[in-house]
Amino acid sequence: MLSRDITPRWHGLWGADATMRFLISRRPPSIIEAMSQAALLDLTSPVEQLYGVGPERKAQLHRLEIHTIGDLLVHRPRRYEDRRHFVSMYDLPVGVARTVRGKVIAAGTTFFRRSGKSVFELIVDDGSARLHCRWWNAPYMEKYFKQGDEVFVFGKVSTLKPRTMDHPETEVIDSADDESIHMNRVAPVYPLTEGLPQRWLRALIWRALGIFEARFAEPWPAIKLDDFVSMSRAMHDVHFPEEIADAEAARRRLALDEFILLQLEIQKRRRNLESHTRGLPCGGDNRLMKPFLRKLGFSPTAAQTRVLREIRADVSGSVPMRRLLQGDVGSGKTLVAGCAALMAIESGFTVALMAPTEILAEQHFLTFSQWFSPIDVRVLLRTASHKERMLGQRASLVVGTHALIQETAGLPNLGLVIIDEQHKFGVAQREKLVRKGNYPHLLVMTATPIPRTLGLTLYGDLDVSVIDELPPGRGKVKTFVRNEDKLPRVWEFARQKLSEGRQMFVVYPRVEDTTGAVKAVIEEAEKLGKVFAPSRVGVLHGKMRPQEKDLVMSSFREGRTAVLVATSIIEVGVNVPNASVMVIENAEQFGLAQLHQLRGRIGRGSHESYCILVCGKKTPEVRQRLNVMEETTDGFRIAEEDLKLRGPGELLGQEQSGMPRFRFGNLAADLALVQKAKELASAILATSKPQIPNSKGAPVSKRP
Ligand code: ADP
Ligand code: MG
Repeated sequence: MLSRDITPRWHGLWGADATMRFLISRRPPSIIEAMSQAALLDLTSPVEQLYGVGPERKAQLHRLEIHTIGDLLVHRPRRYEDRRHFVSMYDLPVGVARTVRGKVIAAGTTFFRRSGKSVFELIVDDGSARLHCRWWNAPYMEKYFKQGDEVFVFGKVSTLKPRTMDHPETEVIDSADDESIHMNRVAPVYPLTEGLPQRWLRALIWRALGIFEARFAEPWPAIKLDDFVSMSRAMHDVHFPEEIADAEAARRRLALDEFILLQLEIQKRRRNLESHTRGLPCGGDNRLMKPFLRKLGFSPTAAQTRVLREIRADVSGSVPMRRLLQGDVGSGKTLVAGCAALMAIESGFTVALMAPTEILAEQHFLTFSQWFSPIDVRVLLRTASHKERMLGQRASLVVGTHALIQETAGLPNLGLVIIDEQHKFGVAQREKLVRKGNYPHLLVMTATPIPRTLGLTLYGDLDVSVIDELPPGRGKVKTFVRNEDKLPRVWEFARQKLSEGRQMFVVYPRVEDTTGAVKAVIEEAEKLGKVFAPSRVGVLHGKMRPQEKDLVMSSFREGRTAVLVATSIIEVGVNVPNASVMVIENAEQFGLAQLHQLRGRIGRGSHESYCILVCGKKTPEVRQRLNVMEETTDGFRIAEEDLKLRGPGELLGQEQSGMPRFRFGNLAADLALVQKAKELASAILATSKPQIPNSKGAPVSKRP
């Protein structure tokens, strides 16, 4: 079937740890190269080498990102259909997706002159009852069916009089086709593209598996995987399981392999760091720390103190620190960063602190200037708009936006790098940064609590410290979800709080809106100016020039502006304790983690605070999602929910570039697998440690 002779070199195909990486990301060129070099051309051969794939099919497969035979074999079914047992049409429940089988007794399209719409209708009978299938505005459907055809129909019955399914999935049974692939079994249903028939793709994958499936070697021969099916079984069962449960067992196996590959990467990177670099001595001697804490006006919480001990141990150690600092919004990560900076500065090193936005950099600059000027530590700001302040100056702490990353090599004597609100930085950027110079210590602070699976995946190479306690004396934040029609009362309430001397945020999803679908900052700010007159209303969004932003922020910080109308640009770090009300309009447009961040801007002072989530569209899903915000202020729980509801991409934000794509792994559900993979990866690495013979000739490992 293959036009090329298959070499018997297949054994290494899945044996080397790198070769399976194509399971994770789509065709990384290095893997293709590696495989080709090893002359393992089979899986990387173009898919059109399979019998039956002509130019048209090839183009269709390419649209599904299937370029090679390997891509084809990891094309994962969207769902499975048990074609051994069918419900009778008579028994079809309403509102539940089911598969039925029957004969087409009528098919036809009706056009509606007035509306210009049409409906294609198919009537299918299985002997027990008739089922009407309808497709709106899809007259081309006609050509796929004719009277007398046997069909599978999958969908939800919407009404019983007559029994109707709208836009079901269908598959015509072709008597010429191989029964064992499509019928009387659990059949895979694949993602398709226009013009590509389900049964054709199913047959192609069946044939490709027939050639390759017995050849999948175990990729990790050194370790036992007792609780998992074999690789070759998994590859078979993920497509053609005996029972639906077998498909899940197969998925778990393949997901495990994906996670192992990633953990290997992570652990190798870490090992490299540990064996090739030395930590700079940054433990400090407290000569700045003591007076700093004395003048601070409050004492660190027990959690902050514990975390600082962990950091001190790291920066005094022999290996550069690689630590992630997690703590909910408002838990006081900045103070920890400040103390860590002082340790390095006491030791004679420079420190760089990076923030994702200019506003945040500016604010850190103000905080640290205030904190450090009484103890004579120079702080500088370096952002796109504040380059000039750097000229000819020396400072112990440089605060900046991530543009600083490109320039850290230029910072003399860098001992510690602190990255605030890390998830806005890609992992690649982080790597680039720490590769520079003398391997400074690295402290990464996250804004959003990270669910465990994501933490292990994205930050697996970092040690973790958690601040699990808020500073004392914080006012509570009460959260309410309200419909848009309640806005007048919301503004009335806000006016009252303003009259008590408080300040407020009003947040919109967009700067400007051209669609009319969601409210936008610029327009609404004008209206709010009138609603809250004579109180001053300021506007803040990402399209403003940095100097304008500075002016608006400082006016708000100093209390001259009472109401700040903004985009989510304020979500990170902005710290104005007198602001006690936040209204978020079109709240349904935001992810939960993002809402939690935004909400973290209030409740920073001792006043009772109020977060009002106003939704424009209140569907049950929206309501359920936003209810989580009413129920809890626990950032970890919110992050978990967000991961479940919206997936990792949404949770981390669009800029996240370091997120690997898993085909089989599911970060919202596979915590146990990720943990298992982590253990297995270290076991695999342990068995591949370089062996050095000792004097008696017996191998010993290099490190205990
Ligand atoms: P986040 O962890 O969200 O970055 P911040 O570092 O901005 O939180 O801290 C929030 C507020 O809490 C700041 O005003 C900070 O000065 C204050 N704060 C931090 N630690 C303490 C503490 N131990 N006691 C009282 N207030 C604190
Ligand atoms: Mg912060």
